[in-house]
Amino acid sequence: EGRWFAVRVAPLGTHGLVLVLAEDLTEMRRTEAIRRDFVANVSHELKTPVGALSLLAETVAGAADDPEAVRRFTGRMQIEAVRLNNLVQDLMTLSRVQGDEPLPEPRPVALDDVVGEAVDRCRIKAEAKDIELVVGGRVGLRVRGDEELLVTALRNLIDNAVAYSPDNTRVVIATTQADADHVELTVTDQGIGIPDAELERIFERFYRVDPARSRRTGGTGLGLAIVKHVTTKHGGEVTVWSKEGSGSTFTLRLPLMRGDNPTTQPATAPR
Ligand code: ADP
Repeated sequence: EGRWFAVRVAPLGTHGLVLVLAEDLTEMRRTEAIRRDFVANVSHELKTPVGALSLLAETVAGAADDPEAVRRFTGRMQIEAVRLNNLVQDLMTLSRVQGDEPLPEPRPVALDDVVGEAVDRCRIKAEAKDIELVVGGRVGLRVRGDEELLVTALRNLIDNAVAYSPDNTRVVIATTQADADHVELTVTDQGIGIPDAELERIFERFYRVDPARSRRTGGTGLGLAIVKHVTTKHGGEVTVWSKEGSGSTFTLRLPLMRGDNPTTQPATAPR
C-alpha cells in the first residue's frame, strides 16, 4: 500500500512566494476510518439497551393486570437503564481524556487517597462474589495529576479484576516506588487471565475477549481504553501481565512527584 499526499500550493503576499503544503492523505484516511468505526460501534452499543428498554416498556404496558410480571419486567428495565448510564458515563470520560492536550490543572495527588477511594467504590461488587480486596505497599507516595481521573482508572482495573475472577479469590492492590522517579500501582487477580494473542488489543475501545461475558458483567468495553488514556495523560504507561487460567496483573507506572522524598524536604517550612 503506497502513501498518498495532497500538495497544496498557496501564493503568499505580493512577492510571489509560494508555500507548499504536503498533507499525508494515507494518515488522514486511516484516522477517518477509525472515527467512522467508532461511531458505528457507539451506535451499536447504544442500540442494544435502548431496544431492550422499548421492548420491555411495551411488555409492561401489556401486563398491567399482572403485578408479578410488572415487577419482573421493570426490574429488567432498571438493569438496562444502568447499562445505558454506564455507557454514556464512560463515553463522556473517554472524550475528556483521549485528546493529546495535557491535563488542564495538575495538582499533587496522594496515591493512598486514590487507592482508598477506588477500593471503596468496588467493595460492594467484590463482596457480592466473596472476593477479598487486599491493599498493600508503600504509603505516602504522591503524583501530580487529577485525583478523580486516577480513581476512575484504578476503579476500572479493580472492577475488571473482580468481574473476571471466580468467587472466593483475592485481588491485591499495591503501591510501590519503582525507581527514583516512578511509582507503580498494580492490581493483581486470580482470575481467568487473558490469552497472549489478545493482550495487545484489550486496550482498544470496545474490544472484548469474550463479548458475552463482558456484557453479562455489565462491562462497556471502554474501561481499559479509559485507563490507557488517563495514564498517558499523566505521563505514565500501563502494562499487563497475564496467564490464562491463573490471573492477571495490570500496572500503572506514573512519574513520582518531585520533592516527594521525605528526607530531602525541610522538616519545617520557613515562615
Ligand atoms: P469490559 O467492559 O468488557 O470489561 P475493558 O476495556 O475494561 O472492557 O476490558 C476489555 C477486555 O479485556 C474485557 O472484555 C476482558 O475480556 C479483558 N479483561 C480486562 N481485564 C481483565 C482481567 N483482569 N482478567 C481477564 N480479562 C480481562
